Amino acid sequence: MKTALYPGSFDPVTLGHLDIIQRASQMFDTVIVAVMCNSAKTPLFTLDERVKMLKESVKDLDNVIIESFDGLLINYCKEKNIHIVIRGLRAITDFEYELQIAQTNKELSHNQVDTVFLTTNLKYSYLSSSVVKEIASYNGDITPCVSDFVADALYKKYGYEERNK
Ligand code: ADP
Repeated sequence: MKTALYPGSFDPVTLGHLDIIQRASQMFDTVIVAVMCNSAKTPLFTLDERVKMLKESVKDLDNVIIESFDGLLINYCKEKNIHIVIRGLRAITDFEYELQIAQTNKELSHNQVDTVFLTTNLKYSYLSSSVVKEIASYNGDITPCVSDFVADALYKKYGYEERNK
């Protein structure tokens, strides 16, 4: 049984993330999506809200499990006996940062944890949670970027009753 871990802040989950999850779910027996609670960034959504949005998003994918974790990724991998971490790559800027993290995790885990990179689906290559939050904060149209219930949650967070159409 091959299990892979897809960690991230998912603040909130976008269609770019979901594309990675969906593709990973076809490559591995089980994919654990782990929401980080120790992110250096201050999240817009609580851990509980982020987990709930992800659970709703993947309800039709039988081999995807949503969890959360705190602390070092490699400790979480050890605890769960996971040796593969998945990360998404959008641009060269992602690569520099991701390569450093991947090598750090490999080193810290004594070669027990490897990172598999999935390149972005081109139609989502511009998409990040930060961009989506910025558009939503001005009541812009985020319907091409996130699921409807995530869009509703975002507009609510920014005090808009309805999405801009
Ligand atoms: P972080 O974990 O750095 O806070 P996110 O939670 O936003 O970042 O993203 C988790 C992972 O998903 C990262 O590997 C990121 O590169 C990837 N990702 C985010 N948006 C996209 C996208 N549009 N296409 C492909 N991968 C993405």
